[in-house]
Amino acid sequence: MAENPFFSPSTLPYKLPDFAEIREEHYLPAFERGMTDQLREVEAIAGDPGPATFANTVEALERSGQILKRTATVFMSIASSDATDGIREIETEILPKLTKHGDAIHLNRALYERIKQVATEDPEEAWLLEKYRVDFVRAGADLSEADQERLKELNEELTKVATTFSQNLLRASTGSALVVEDVKELDGLSESAIKAIEKDGTYVLPLLNFTNQPALAELTDRQTRRKLYELSVNRAPENFDLAVKLATLRAERAALLGYPTHAAYSVADQTAKTTDAVEEMLGKLVGPAVANARREAELLSEQAGFPIEAWDWSFYAEKVRKARYDFDGAELRPYFELDRVLRDGVFHAAGELYGITFADRDDLAGYHPDVRVFEVFNADGSQLGLFVFDPYARPTKRGGAWMNNLVDQSHLFGELPVVMNNLNVTKPAEGPTLLTFDEVNTAFHEFGHALHGLFSDVRFPRVSGTEVPRDFVEYPSQVNEMWATWPSVLANFARHHETGEPVPAELLEKMKAAEKFNQGFATVEYLAAALLDWAWHKLAPGETVEDAEAFEAAALERAGIAFDLVRTRYRTNYFAHIFSSGTGGYSAGYYSYIWSEVLDAESVEWFKENDGLKRGNGDHFRSALLSVGGSMDVMAAFRNFRGRDPRIEPLLERRGLLT
Ligand SMILES: [Zn+2]
Repeated sequence: MAENPFFSPSTLPYKLPDFAEIREEHYLPAFERGMTDQLREVEAIAGDPGPATFANTVEALERSGQILKRTATVFMSIASSDATDGIREIETEILPKLTKHGDAIHLNRALYERIKQVATEDPEEAWLLEKYRVDFVRAGADLSEADQERLKELNEELTKVATTFSQNLLRASTGSALVVEDVKELDGLSESAIKAIEKDGTYVLPLLNFTNQPALAELTDRQTRRKLYELSVNRAPENFDLAVKLATLRAERAALLGYPTHAAYSVADQTAKTTDAVEEMLGKLVGPAVANARREAELLSEQAGFPIEAWDWSFYAEKVRKARYDFDGAELRPYFELDRVLRDGVFHAAGELYGITFADRDDLAGYHPDVRVFEVFNADGSQLGLFVFDPYARPTKRGGAWMNNLVDQSHLFGELPVVMNNLNVTKPAEGPTLLTFDEVNTAFHEFGHALHGLFSDVRFPRVSGTEVPRDFVEYPSQVNEMWATWPSVLANFARHHETGEPVPAELLEKMKAAEKFNQGFATVEYLAAALLDWAWHKLAPGETVEDAEAFEAAALERAGIAFDLVRTRYRTNYFAHIFSSGTGGYSAGYYSYIWSEVLDAESVEWFKENDGLKRGNGDHFRSALLSVGGSMDVMAAFRNFRGRDPRIEPLLERRGLLT
């Protein structure tokens, strides 16, 4: 075997991982060596006979574990985007070992003692030092030996159960797929959509990872809709028990760490800080949102001519859109060709705001032929980083869309960022890739995260780019969505893929009017998920749950969000955000999306007040907020940008919740 490519830094531009050289058999040896090396480095730091300084302790920790970091970064990215059976086996084996490895560092008493002795006057160093101290305390550094032993067991068990949960889910997307023999049952789907799911005379429609499958908007056969919907909400039933296990283990873990619930533990280092703050916020939204959704339901039943069921919602929502707003989302698709959306939309908007430019780097390869690499430059021509783009769905890719870093920007290592975006667009059997408006919006959203990573201008990798509190991280990406419908941006990218004609202004007007419709549905399905996550993580230590489905129903009822026609966006059995990672993920954190939307709505207002899409505005957002990453208090960064504390009113107005 040639030298393991993870053993030395990549020699490619920007240290882009050399995917062409990486084989599955490289991961385990690289993980093993990476962990061994880092433990040796940590021992040396902890055992240093001299006085503890920032340089020989915190900075030395930042420098440690380079092989492990390179390996884990690539592996986690591949495990999300292209998880073959081999990758899943490695995942099952390595995740518990990584959890153990993290504990071995955080529960090293000599090391923790030295961190406590470090003092520094430099504000950026002081901020990082405090982060380290909090990380160690939250990982159990202050506990007794016996409690630490129990904590290690809990962490390992949590990791194992969560990995099984997420693998069950990946299998269920095809395992619980809708299988149809008679093509008539698929009436309403486009010819190309039907063609894409045909296999030897059978039609297999895989499940996407949320309740309301997009095909429900198009399928004319009510029975097919019902079948698809029921497959969706009942998938991976074995995950119910795993969710109970995860929630009870987390409650025990929180108690060990001195918190009444996992929710309290989880928000303590977020911008929300307390469970009361989260509940107060969600509480303001529930009543008006449910009232909106009920009004919408009446309209839909009127349109249908009978009382609709949950599986009818999207279908009749489309009908109402056509009837009331004369708007058909499908009419827009020919104007949203993927490559054009990316270059003339997403990149164009970033160019106008920040002066950055993009160059194709077809000489640089990803891990799959569909992955594309772009080099990004500042307005003055200096190098900014690489942007890696993986737009298409595949059976080995998890659901949803996300951004991740392949290389973190830091001055410590003199490294520029390599960031990537994953989408889950269906690749057409032939011809151009035409997007829905939702997919266009998602492309802008994910690129907002990418900009947060690309503009990072900090000393230390631990606080680079998107390494900010979870209930803050969605904010910059949400702001970037505003440019998807900004008139000059839209005019630039929305052109017919065959004729090059711009999208008719009239169609856009209708789209804007129709956008306000169905907000009740969107808000309720989201809030239900946030409150379900919350209920699971408000379990008291020792509390048991006999029946997960009954628990789910009771929790939604109690929160005032139970509504048969609009179920939660994720039920317990497929709530990957909160159950697919043992100790991390979005557990007790799904509220974050609407929490950060408060900041988003405030910022959109600021851009509008200041003349919108122009360099000065982008530069201010970049320097005050995006470039500082997590290297300072992010709410102070927000105030530096906005000039005051955030208010909730712009969000309420946007969501139609002002009463
Ligand atoms: Zn996001």
